Amino acid sequence: MKYVVVSGGVLSGLGKGVTASSIGVLLKSAGLRVTAIKIDPYLNSDAGTMSPFEHGEVFVLDDGGEADLDLGNYERFCDLNLFRDNNITTGKIYSRVIEAERRGDYLGKTVQVIPHITDSVQDWIENVSKQPADGSGLEPEACVIELGGTVGDIESAPFIEALRQFQFRVGRENICFVHVSLVPVMGPVGEQKTKPTQHTVKELRGLGISPDVLVCRSQSPLTKETREKLAAFCHVSPNSVMSAHDVSNIYRVPLMLKDQGICQALEINCNATDLIPRWEKMADRVDNLGQDIHIAMVGKYTGLTDSYLSVIKSLQHASYSVNRTLVIDWIEASNLENQEHEDWNTLRAANGILVPGGFGDRGIEGKILAAEYARTNNIPYLGICLGLQVATIEFCRNVLGMENANSTEFDENTPHPAVIFMPEISKTHLGGTMRLGSRPTNFQVNECMIKRLYNGVEQVDERHRHRYEVNPDLIKQIEDAGLIFVGKDETGQRCEIFELEGHPYYVGVQYHPEFKSRPERPSPPFLGLLMAATGKQI
Ligand code: GLN
Repeated sequence: MKYVVVSGGVLSGLGKGVTASSIGVLLKSAGLRVTAIKIDPYLNSDAGTMSPFEHGEVFVLDDGGEADLDLGNYERFCDLNLFRDNNITTGKIYSRVIEAERRGDYLGKTVQVIPHITDSVQDWIENVSKQPADGSGLEPEACVIELGGTVGDIESAPFIEALRQFQFRVGRENICFVHVSLVPVMGPVGEQKTKPTQHTVKELRGLGISPDVLVCRSQSPLTKETREKLAAFCHVSPNSVMSAHDVSNIYRVPLMLKDQGICQALEINCNATDLIPRWEKMADRVDNLGQDIHIAMVGKYTGLTDSYLSVIKSLQHASYSVNRTLVIDWIEASNLENQEHEDWNTLRAANGILVPGGFGDRGIEGKILAAEYARTNNIPYLGICLGLQVATIEFCRNVLGMENANSTEFDENTPHPAVIFMPEISKTHLGGTMRLGSRPTNFQVNECMIKRLYNGVEQVDERHRHRYEVNPDLIKQIEDAGLIFVGKDETGQRCEIFELEGHPYYVGVQYHPEFKSRPERPSPPFLGLLMAATGKQI
């Protein structure tokens, strides 16, 4: 097993996740079976209880793990299916060590950060890196490990120490340390400044890790002088100083690193498969898409792209398939509650409307109005999770005449509970207790748009994350009025997909299709939205 550890310095948000994913792509291009691990030094057990506002979206895995959004980057770039254990947090490690202490596993010993926490981190990495993750069922041969945060943070210190020790456990020749840093440009002649990188590398080396490769974020390519200076001051070979400058699209990042010789530094042959030519084609295609297509995204963290990262990626993947340039028009749902608000003009001008998942009642009435607008004006609509629920509420209110129909999430005393709390969900514990992860949906009809989009299969497995569901007692009444629940769970009771009869594309899914979309295999419900929005026959 070869390990590539990606750490970061100077600033957060430098694109460590994209760098780690790109390295994964290059390892794959060398014909290696790849997996990836993200280390998050916070105390939460997982990202499930963290606000998307503060931390970006919660990425859901097949096994129901609620993980950091970087796991989504790895899955999309490297076409993997990861597990909850691929996201290590301080919370998980400490829980495990404390549990072992209570069991008496360390009887007689003082339990300490070194060696107990650091050993536990290393054991965890070794075990998880062996889990097949690429669908082959075979053990991976290379594992990318991304260390969250920036070097020097108090929180990440035990992990850095664990990784320092790990190089002796696995052998120095089997591990490569990549450090991502920033090279800012200053002054009238645009001088590339190396000092921040020098400092962060000094700090990393002080902790016992000497980077083999530097990846420097910069506006433009690093000059020869900058590379040489960094090499001299940071104890790396000049050939191992990579510049990660701005590129036209994200698919160029692995290509850019390859062109600078990172494969030699990693001692791999990136031409062993057809992956690089495929990425080149994709990158070119993304740079040459046709006319704009406007999708209105009606949410509550608008503008914060990280909060809806997988939804945005899925829309992009689908836009490549229809060869159009995606423009997302962000609409703050609560603005639609004012009929005069200019966001109404944006909504009316859109080619398609998407209401993504969400929790809590802010903006709910605005989302309901957006669903109504799409339904009554034949505008293509995709409702995801909460987006399915608000469309159902809208239908109950305005088609079935159920005044004040609502979800019990927003109005416990609604006279018409269109959406209700699922019986099996915990009322006392919020962490990891939703209906989570991959679950089957069975199609209930022989023919419908969404089934065609899924290539006519009878069953699909998609990932879930919710506490509420469409009230099963109302399903018959709703269906009689034309909103058909074409997909249900394995019991045949729980609603998973609806489709409105006679509408160009009015689809709701209780699951989150965005977590399984891939650049070359767009998620079917998103593809349907983009096809309908561009007037294509489904
Ligand atoms: N809040 C809703 C529920 O818990 C929707 C969740 C979501 O959109 N992920 O069912």
